[in-house]
Amino acid sequence: MIEKTLVILKPCTMQRGLIGEIVNRFERKGLRLAGMKMIQLTDEILSEHYSHLSTKPFFQRVKDSMMTAPVIICCWEGVDAIQAVRTLTGPTNGRLAAPGTIRGDYSMSYQENIVHASDSPETAAIELNRFFKPEELFEYKQVTFPYIYACDEY
Ligand code: ADP
Repeated sequence: MIEKTLVILKPCTMQRGLIGEIVNRFERKGLRLAGMKMIQLTDEILSEHYSHLSTKPFFQRVKDSMMTAPVIICCWEGVDAIQAVRTLTGPTNGRLAAPGTIRGDYSMSYQENIVHASDSPETAAIELNRFFKPEELFEYKQVTFPYIYACDEY
């Protein structure tokens, strides 16, 4: 099924000058960029976004880290894009992430782990709605589509 998913390029990625490289990883995978913008996150929106971590001792520290610089918010689209992007991203702790994954290639940290990626269809829908207005997502045709997928894959 063709899905949209939310990716946040975190402040560590901005500061380390890795935005272009990380965007390139998603582009060369074959995903379609449906939306992209730079924003400054706030404690309020992060409290919503990371509400599943609210009882953790590192909750405030993670939120503070996400506010230290602006972030790039992306919507990537493709067949089974939510799982495909999570697989490309790798597990949370960069030190344990396999080489070849984004976190495995660029991160030495649990917290400073380069990207956020939605983890299920339910969270992708909620997170896209949280960060993008409908008119900020574009439905242009990906002309390479028949070269990225076989016709029975979508
Ligand atoms: P993921 O981003 O892989 O979906 P979570 O939703 O569990 O992981 O956590 C959100 C973010 O909080 C992580 O990406 C990471 O930046 C931070 N985080 C999670 N667990 C820890 C931890 N044990 N120590 C430090 N930071 C953490």
